[in-house]
Amino acid sequence: NWDLCGESLQVTAITRNRQWVLRQRPDGAVSEDHFEYREGVVPSPGEGEVLLRNLYLSFDPAQRGWLEPTDSYVAAIEIGEVMRSGSVARVVESRHSGFQAGDLVQATAGWQDFAVVPGKGPGSPRPIPDNIRPTYALSLLGGNGLTAYFGLLRVGQARAGDVVVVSSAAGATGSIAGQIARLKGCRVIGIAGGPEKCRWLMEDAGFHGAIDYKSGDIGTQIAKHCPQGVDVYFDNVGGPTLEAVLDNLARGARVAMCGAISGYQSEAPLTGPSNLINLVLNSASMNGFLLTDFAKEFRSASADLLAWTNAGDIIYREDIQQGFDRIPRTLIRLFQGANQGKQILEIDLPDRDTNNA
Ligand code: NAP
Repeated sequence: NWDLCGESLQVTAITRNRQWVLRQRPDGAVSEDHFEYREGVVPSPGEGEVLLRNLYLSFDPAQRGWLEPTDSYVAAIEIGEVMRSGSVARVVESRHSGFQAGDLVQATAGWQDFAVVPGKGPGSPRPIPDNIRPTYALSLLGGNGLTAYFGLLRVGQARAGDVVVVSSAAGATGSIAGQIARLKGCRVIGIAGGPEKCRWLMEDAGFHGAIDYKSGDIGTQIAKHCPQGVDVYFDNVGGPTLEAVLDNLARGARVAMCGAISGYQSEAPLTGPSNLINLVLNSASMNGFLLTDFAKEFRSASADLLAWTNAGDIIYREDIQQGFDRIPRTLIRLFQGANQGKQILEIDLPDRDTNNA
């Protein structure tokens, strides 16, 4: 039932595969110059493989880390390699019994029109159920929703009555973490950049308070909103915001370190918070986590997220940019705070080759 990217196009008429590859590694802020446009041929799937056409790309702060020369929790992207990204894709041709042409899947198919992926094992696509909005497989019912769920409930141990603070609260992950906290009976304060995001948190997403960290002293604002201290901090940004929350911890507080985007583009080595002693003084804990730590429990968490979404208990914003040429600049939006919710790009139709001879 989903009208996706003008799919009436006969993909068999297309032989060009548009791609964005890594041209050079950023030293500091990522820019469009770090990527290069190329055209290749549409690859053919071998035995056991599947040919995909990308429809929507997911943009995630972690992609900035993948541009570094060293491997982290995933391998570094090589110079000249197609930029890695999550996507919603359509199976064009399948040589694996688990998939058929026409299947809608979630994949890691990169910044390109077409990709060949294995039908099974690491890198294989996952079917997207018919009853969900396809892009939610990348966000609310995928990596962002699950990260929010486990970060808040398992790492942060949030429970009814807690005061929960979430940073990057209007973003893809933070907006879900805050709403789950509200559903669990917590008092939720969101920190976000700018009045429009703060308005959305209060008027649409049901947060109890919102702090614009770009206006006024953040420590003072946290103290005002949380006079008894912060029980759970879901940290997406690190840096000065983390330091300000550490100055306002309640006894037994839990800090769930989901990410630290404020430092992802730093040219100089990062320094830690100067006030970690507050963890001692408040018998508090601070734990980092990766979503994949909880892989065995994804199924039950996904069921909860789907139920809350269907009941209208969680609302969600997607920021869907358009056009293949805009791909690199769409990544940059995350680091400018320009994205209003989950950052996605809809891939425009590749021209038929006959029109481009
Ligand atoms: P997002 O929040 O939708 O988008 C990024 C947001 O970060 C921007 O909109 C901006 O919001 C904020 N930001 C950018 N630069 C900043 C800075 N210098 N200081 C403070 N805030 C800044 O992105 P997301 O995908 O949901 O990711 C949020 C965090 O979760 C990231 O740190 C990411 O790495 C992490 N994450 C971790 C896991 C895991 O497994 N641990 C999984 C997924 C995501 P404002 O306008 O509000 O500044």
